[in-house]
Amino acid sequence: MKKLTQYWLSALALGLLHQSVQAQSKGTKEQQEVLAGLEKKTPSYGAISKKIWDYAEVGYQETKSSALLQDELKKEGFAVQSGVAGIPTAFVATYGSGKPVISILAEFDALPGLAQQAVPERKVIEGQKAGHACGHHLFGTGSTAAAISVKDWLKQTGKKGTIKLVGTPAEEGGSGKVYLVREGVFKDTDVVLHWHPGDRNVANPSSSLANISAKFRFRGISAHAAAAPERGRSALDGVEAMNNMVNMMREHIPSDTRVHYVITRGGEAPNVVPDYAEVYYYARNKDRDVLQDVWKRIVKAAEGAALGTDTKMEMEVIGGVYNVLPVESLAQLMHKNLDIVGGVTYTPEETKFAEKISETFGTSFGSLRKSTEAGTVMPFALPNKAESMGGSTDVGDVSWTVPTVGLGTATWVPGTAAHSWQAVAAGGMSIGVKGMMVAAKTLTLTAMDLFNDPSLIQKAQSEWLEVRGKNFQYEALLGNRKPALDYRK
Ligand SMILES: [Zn+2]
Repeated sequence: MKKLTQYWLSALALGLLHQSVQAQSKGTKEQQEVLAGLEKKTPSYGAISKKIWDYAEVGYQETKSSALLQDELKKEGFAVQSGVAGIPTAFVATYGSGKPVISILAEFDALPGLAQQAVPERKVIEGQKAGHACGHHLFGTGSTAAAISVKDWLKQTGKKGTIKLVGTPAEEGGSGKVYLVREGVFKDTDVVLHWHPGDRNVANPSSSLANISAKFRFRGISAHAAAAPERGRSALDGVEAMNNMVNMMREHIPSDTRVHYVITRGGEAPNVVPDYAEVYYYARNKDRDVLQDVWKRIVKAAEGAALGTDTKMEMEVIGGVYNVLPVESLAQLMHKNLDIVGGVTYTPEETKFAEKISETFGTSFGSLRKSTEAGTVMPFALPNKAESMGGSTDVGDVSWTVPTVGLGTATWVPGTAAHSWQAVAAGGMSIGVKGMMVAAKTLTLTAMDLFNDPSLIQKAQSEWLEVRGKNFQYEALLGNRKPALDYRK
């Protein structure tokens, strides 16, 4: 009974909250009209995101997801160039002409091994191998929605300038954007906008970790593991010796470094000495120099492991991304607009879903967060105070090439960690769609500001040059390798 009363009280409170948000709508009349236009299209963008959620295509294999977004943009009058930078699923959709040029990033790759139904308990989807545990189906669709609404506004007002939607595959480990940067896709862009699904609404000038990843392949000699082990050389021994050394090394590297691995091949049967084994490594640090130093030592451990186990080792660098370079003035602009748009208000059904999800978090983690936090916007914090996102993103490389600004919105129940089944679940239902529309709206308002006031772009560019350094030369951390189109195969 008590529970029921609480339920109705919170539903009532949310209803009132919703009303008051509507009553004190912020922003100019023009902004409100544009936002209302986007709001009306929520069901259709929700349906697109759900399709991409269903496809759940992993890095560089996002054929259907990429085609769906391209079709939508073509229908809306964008000129679409596909197969950019040697990547079949990368594309650039352009509308308008001349300066300024604003580009919005759109991701759409899923994560392997994280299939989950859109329900608040752990339930896999039988036969599905991947899931949108980082919400990139929302990322791609929300950015597309923003690009289209900016296009409509440019058309209606007759403003000069170009809006681009850049379809960027394989963010999860494939470093897709690095190849687009190398190809010069952002050469004529003045400001890049992006966003990321999350468990809160925030537009702080925060950074991320630089990252290098590689597959280390060991080759030995197979033999009967009991009858003739002396004739064998175990490739798995090579992998294990390397892991052992790297794990000891952890004590002697800067403690804010992250190193993680999975053994992707380790032999087929215990009675055969494995002649082939593979381990897939990531190393990360916020400082690229520290990272490169640690990385050299990881490679030495691999070489030492091969020497000691009498196996052969070869390394293939798969990914490499920069840390994100924040631009404070742009983040302030984004924050101002996020504040106009406001957070996500749950219906009673969504609140129930959120509460069930919260119950699945460990006690010291997300369960302390309230679902109503999705309705709030985090206060603005300066770069030195802004929490760095724990992960890495290939947006980093873009941000060292063009002034770049992003935001995060509450597409997941507050307290949800990225790359979890709880993220897949909320992303597949209305909570995810609502958070996505907050992003689409905020990106739209920010682009409108930039088109309206070129001095904002000038200010951002000089600030960006200052923090980046004038003599900076971009060099991809993954060298000049071709896109690792088969890294998920
Ligand atoms: Zn992500």
